[in-house]
Amino acid sequence: MKLEDRLVTLQKQNPKLAVLDALRRLRAASVAEQEVNSLPFARKNGRHANFLAELELESWYPALAAKFCGAVAAAGIENDALREIRKNKSLVLELGRAITQNSVGTLDSTAKNFKIDRALLLFVFETPLIPAFKEIALKNKNALPKEGKCPVCGRPLSLGVYKDRKRYLLCKLCGARYHVDLFWCPKCGNRDAGKLGFIFLEDEPEFRIDYCFLCNTYIKAADEDIIGAVDDPLLFDIATLDLDALAREKKLNLPGE
Ligand SMILES: [Zn+2]
Ligand SMILES: [Zn+2]
Repeated sequence: MKLEDRLVTLQKQNPKLAVLDALRRLRAASVAEQEVNSLPFARKNGRHANFLAELELESWYPALAAKFCGAVAAAGIENDALREIRKNKSLVLELGRAITQNSVGTLDSTAKNFKIDRALLLFVFETPLIPAFKEIALKNKNALPKEGKCPVCGRPLSLGVYKDRKRYLLCKLCGARYHVDLFWCPKCGNRDAGKLGFIFLEDEPEFRIDYCFLCNTYIKAADEDIIGAVDDPLLFDIATLDLDALAREKKLNLPGE
């Protein structure tokens, strides 16, 4: 089944998914609208380690972040907290810096102080950074994931696809794609095929859970030869939330947990 069709089916069972899908659409629109070439990092060459330091967030990030906050609030998803946060430009910049540096303290304290869901806070403030991360991913195609994390943006890699008998991990945030071994746990590095498990959905074997017996980590995987190219990892993630529920029943955890 195609991801879009799966999402429609899942949404009938779980109306809360409509909010996640609305956020996904807002993000896609915001990312499509950004003119990457006008931003300072787009003109630079070199390794991604330098790019992160040279993003020059202060010159562009607060305005884009405030704009996206406004779009989310206008959609009625969160109003008061985001309205307060977007007024505070130095806090907005601090959030952007915290996200590029993967430091959790600022996010945790802001979520607490403004009584906003931490996942929503992260979602809103990481969105303006996506074109920058995508640019970095393009310039660092040969980077390899380390300890289950995306080497570009640092997010745990929790999605996989199979295509032409090859396996790739997808980054949910920056969209980077990494060719990895068929038998390999992204969390602990286990390569013993006897200690790696697969749970296929009975009616839809094109969707599965890949998991590791050693560290109990799972990722969700899809067969691109059947469902077509997964262009939007976030759609993949939301349209397969039933697989997460299944994995939780088996006491499995995502990388990064
Ligand atoms: Zn990434
Ligand atoms: Zn493992």
